[in-house]
Amino acid sequence: MSISKNLLQIKSSLPPEVTLVAVSKTQPVSSIIEAYEAGQRIFGENKIQEMAEKYETLPKDIEWHMIGHVQSNKVKYMAPFVKLIHGVDSLKLLIEIDKQAKKCNRVIDCLLQVHIAEEDTKFGLSESEFAELLASPEPGLLPNVRIRGLMGMATFTDDASRVKKEFDFLKAQFDLSKSKWGSPYFDVLSMGMSGDYEIAVASGSTMVRIGSSIFGERN
Ligand SMILES: *Cc1c(COP(=O)(O)O)cnc(C)c1O
Repeated sequence: MSISKNLLQIKSSLPPEVTLVAVSKTQPVSSIIEAYEAGQRIFGENKIQEMAEKYETLPKDIEWHMIGHVQSNKVKYMAPFVKLIHGVDSLKLLIEIDKQAKKCNRVIDCLLQVHIAEEDTKFGLSESEFAELLASPEPGLLPNVRIRGLMGMATFTDDASRVKKEFDFLKAQFDLSKSKWGSPYFDVLSMGMSGDYEIAVASGSTMVRIGSSIFGERN
């Protein structure tokens, strides 16, 4: 199967309101161009430096999403162009994104990453940390960041009922925080990858992050 065929097949299987982020981490520029020529404009990377290099060489109408763990000291390298940061997991990071966005005269969209998986190796805020962050006044006082919603990764398992339970939990958290946060911009629920996006979409995902099902297995 070719990249463009994979891409179009996945796109046609998604409801129109679900946004597809093509996860191009480790993929060469030539593969990204193939997806671009098939109409894809949103790409996700998990390393800031790799994303910045690809941004430099590729067409400027691409939206770059940072889907990986973000170190505060590297935010400045993506602040001029990043479209959405999926993995925000602390107030400290949010404050740094605000500071760097201000320098670039931009407002940067962010998602809070909530830990929903059984493994404790995956990053993200716990339920209580997340509730505390949204209840605190600080996020609302940062003019150059906009919290757009939540992101989560389910446990890597064949147990579909467990995955569904985790996605349902995140969707419930999303609905709850949407009403608490009260912002018209709180409208993105990023959940679902190659192995579990169908479950995620059934649970109410609005944005899926798909890599290997489009580009093939990563090395
Ligand atoms: C790599 C990655 C993906 C895509 O994974 P695939 O299984 O290749 O679809 C999605 N989300 C995050 C956060 C990732 O790091």
